[in-house]
Amino acid sequence: FADAIKNEDFKVWFQPKFDAKTEELVGAEALVRWINPDGQTISPADFIYVFEEDGLIVQLDLYVFTSVCKTIKRFMNAGIKTVPISVNISRASLHHTGIIQKYKDVIEETGIPVELVPLEITETTAFKNKQIKELAEQLKAAGFRIDMDDFGTGSSSLASLNLIPFDVLKIDKSLVDFIGTPDGEELVRHSIELAHFKNIHVIAEGVEKQEQLEFLRKYGCDTIQGYYFSPPLPLEKYINRFQEYSKAE
Ligand code: C2E
Ligand code: CA
Ligand code: CA
Repeated sequence: FADAIKNEDFKVWFQPKFDAKTEELVGAEALVRWINPDGQTISPADFIYVFEEDGLIVQLDLYVFTSVCKTIKRFMNAGIKTVPISVNISRASLHHTGIIQKYKDVIEETGIPVELVPLEITETTAFKNKQIKELAEQLKAAGFRIDMDDFGTGSSSLASLNLIPFDVLKIDKSLVDFIGTPDGEELVRHSIELAHFKNIHVIAEGVEKQEQLEFLRKYGCDTIQGYYFSPPLPLEKYINRFQEYSKAE
């Protein structure tokens, strides 16, 4: 694993997020890929859970976070207008002693504004332990934006929404896929309303179809992420495709 980190076998890919109304680039999510020695790209779904079991996820999450902060720094130095690039942080990472200080150190070392790297936390991450509430509050105090990932995939969503001071709710693809069925549409609509009632910004993920985009837009979803606009892309492709949106004025 240390070798893989050293050899830069882990690559950070970027998936853009767009304003639901104006379709402007408003952010991106950093998603890790493992490029094995024969050049094959391995999806995080196939290795994240292993790393979560053996604790290596803490190092991987910090590596991805650091790499994103450096990328943002590069954008800033190059005069490219930078949108926030969110990073996933697993439960194991959050429980690691001193983790918040480590993340704060990276922000300080790179000198980037903390608002530019929101942290995505899953609802199970958020709910399994009340201690998380305290950690989330510390992160907020340090200026981090906290996004609830995968809303709608578990049964504790509403409870954790009340417990943790989330800034953003990410409606999971499984809910987005309900669009087109009357009951499903009700659920999506009310999820958006509920979040807005709590002053929480709404991102829909896994948006693949025009009808989904139109429905979400109609009911006030703020931000759209999904293959409809773009899959996650390697850094250079991301820059080439989306730089036109992000040139500094
Ligand atoms: P996630 O955080 O829910 O990320 C969204 C996943 O949905 C990504 O899968 C993305 O490629 C995929 N996706 C986006 N739009 C669409 C769409 O329109 N249709 C479909 N079918 N899929 C879409 P990916 O990149 O394979 O990542 C899987 C999971 O691995 C992530 O789910 C996240 O939980 C985890 N992960 C990725 N990078 C990291 C990381 O650096 N740290 C940690 N702890 N977990 C990570
Ligand atoms: Ca995520
Ligand atoms: Ca998600």
